[in-house]
Amino acid sequence: MPYNFSIQKNVDLTRFNTMGVQARASFFVEAGSVQDLTQAVEFARKSNLRWMVLGGGSNVLFRSDFDGLIIQNALMGKEISEQGDNIQIKVSGGENWHALVLHCVENGWGGIENLSLIPGSVGAAPIQNIGAYGVELQDVFAELEALTIETGEVQVFSKEQCRFGYRDSIFKKGLKGKVIITSVTLALSKSSQVNTSYKALSDHLTRANIAQPSIKDVSDAVIEIRQSKLPDPKEIGNTGSFFKNPVISVYHFDQLKSEYSELPGYPVSERQVKVPAGWLIEKAGWKGKREGDAGVHEKQALVLVNYGKATGEEIWNLATQIQRSVKKQFDIDLTPEVNIIG
Ligand SMILES: Cc1cc2nc3c(=O)[nH]c(=O)nc-3n(C[C@H](O)[C@H](O)[C@H](O)COP(=O)(O)OP(=O)(O)OC[C@H]3O[C@@H](n4cnc5c(N)ncnc54)[C@H](O)[C@@H]3O)c2cc1C
Repeated sequence: MPYNFSIQKNVDLTRFNTMGVQARASFFVEAGSVQDLTQAVEFARKSNLRWMVLGGGSNVLFRSDFDGLIIQNALMGKEISEQGDNIQIKVSGGENWHALVLHCVENGWGGIENLSLIPGSVGAAPIQNIGAYGVELQDVFAELEALTIETGEVQVFSKEQCRFGYRDSIFKKGLKGKVIITSVTLALSKSSQVNTSYKALSDHLTRANIAQPSIKDVSDAVIEIRQSKLPDPKEIGNTGSFFKNPVISVYHFDQLKSEYSELPGYPVSERQVKVPAGWLIEKAGWKGKREGDAGVHEKQALVLVNYGKATGEEIWNLATQIQRSVKKQFDIDLTPEVNIIG
């Protein structure tokens, strides 16, 4: 059967990854339907190629050329159902996340305004349970649909089945590479309370003299804060936070605190504390450091940047040096949040 898509060869991936590293894919297809996805995977299987799905490329680092098939998720569309104040919105995986947030904000549908300006596609949002400013995707998640490669069927996944955690889900673990998320359904509300529990957000709103913020006020504030803190990938290549914030034992935290009294920590359970990776990296002396075109951002040490022509391997080399140095100084292992494609 002829394919609905064209199979491109030897494609430059620079504009398909926000780190802006130059890597080439031996094959590349844009899949606009579930049938395209199925056929693309079938093509890879028959041709004995490895494959991966790509959304906006804002959470990947290509360490080298990709000797296989890149399947770009271009499934588009939204279905909305309203019941009283409750809105269920089913969104196809290839839609842009931030455009979706703006659409919901404009319509007064609350729940994802704190997740404004996160780059990438809707289909990738559940992969690491995207989160920012006190809200995570799981807070508004209803269900998702995914093409299961083994059976060729589209399967519905409930919230429980997704096993969401901090920047984590089953799709980063047991189901990695085994399913392609085709749509995500969110439960939003016209009467939801805004969440301003995150300090930087509440401070920003107070400074702006906004006592009773609307959904739009929160979205605007988040956008302003993000623009002031994070480099725009269109100007400097980056993937946002490169590492996850590590979670350590209370015992370990107390030991470190005796040496570094200003070490911040956020309890996640009785026994564990989350520590900001950016603080550790900065304290280890990496903030603003640059090796060739690979660097650590000067305002936010958690963000690794490509000043122009850095290769994926050079960025990775910098990342591993940071990991070693944080391990040596604090005995803490930093895990990449970014998906490293070797
Ligand atoms: C400036 C900047 C700021 C950021 N801020 C945040 C933040 O505040 N919070 C946060 O959580 N993240 C943040 N990120 C990270 C990133 O935007 C999110 O992780 C986003 O969800 C990635 O979407 P994407 O479409 O670009 O995914 P990609 O980078 O294309 O893919 C990421 C991974 O998901 C897989 N994947 C993609 N789509 C699918 C699918 N449909 N089915 C199965 N697997 C799939 C890919 O194979 C890959 O392994 C930021 C990134 C940048 C550049």
